[in-house]
Amino acid sequence: MFEDLSIIIPAYNEEKNIVFIYEKIKAVLEQYSYELIFIDDGSSDSTFDEITKIAKVDNRVKGISFSRNFGHQIALLAGIKKASKNLIVMMDADGQHPPELIPDLIQKSCDGFDIVNTRRLSTKGIGWFKRLSSRMYYRILNGLTDIRIEYASSDFRLLTRKAANAFLKMEEQNRFTRGMISWMGFKQAIIEYDAKERFAGNSKYTLRKMFRFATEGITSFSVKPLKISFYIGLIALFVGSLYAAYAIVVYFLGKAVMGWTSTLLTILFLGGIQLLGIGILGEYIAKIYNEIKKRPHYFIKDECGF
Ligand code: UDP
Ligand code: MG
Repeated sequence: MFEDLSIIIPAYNEEKNIVFIYEKIKAVLEQYSYELIFIDDGSSDSTFDEITKIAKVDNRVKGISFSRNFGHQIALLAGIKKASKNLIVMMDADGQHPPELIPDLIQKSCDGFDIVNTRRLSTKGIGWFKRLSSRMYYRILNGLTDIRIEYASSDFRLLTRKAANAFLKMEEQNRFTRGMISWMGFKQAIIEYDAKERFAGNSKYTLRKMFRFATEGITSFSVKPLKISFYIGLIALFVGSLYAAYAIVVYFLGKAVMGWTSTLLTILFLGGIQLLGIGILGEYIAKIYNEIKKRPHYFIKDECGF
């Protein structure tokens, strides 16, 4: 019998999944004692009602409800803050992270690992676009930053109390959990699992949220995009000056009435590069702006079971 486990589950509009994941965890962890904390991330459906109902009949179940949708990564932070036990497992509400794996995660921590990460093996229920973009993305991320993140890794992991306390010391606003975990160090292990299809509902990571998450990952861990935009500018300047020299020669040869095509292309090309550079700058300035405001990461509107 294992005594000391907190399971934290962010849920955004997952009303049809709450009972399902609760029942599954209950069945798998029959031999364990644990607390189960749901973080309702500002759902507009009856997710929190479902959580409250379960919390009334099962005192291991607790819930907090955000005042609005703050996002998956922030919900994870809130869950870790609320977790009171010595081992903490974070997982999705939709059944894609199999609870059957939890005993394996615990076993690894008993083997002396502080952080046990997981990685999807099969990609059932994951479209070709997500698969391809994810593979490309982690290649770019690993190339641009000093952190290492495995392709197909997920926010299904175990933290020991020691690792969780370290994680909570990182107070940044822009939170890319898997990057921060990789950056932390400690003794880390990785376990592979077969991802299931979502039990009910659709992915809550819209294309927009995925894009945000992706740029967050890169700009939180690397300033190389700034340098790259500087180098592109340098190359453009060099090529531009060659072209200028050519134009002057042509002028003195008296053949200077040539086309606006080249002029237009130059303007468009340089304009594009400049906008790109300004855009990258903007991303970082926005980050600094967000950090210096030092706002709370989230507000809790409601609680149950605590
Ligand atoms: N989620 C959340 N806030 C959000 C988006 C997602 O708390 O703004 C939760 C969601 O309820 C789920 C987990 O984060 O438990 C992962 O989301 P999802 O399954 O939609 O992502 P996918 O598995 O498609 O990448
Ligand atoms: Mg999912």
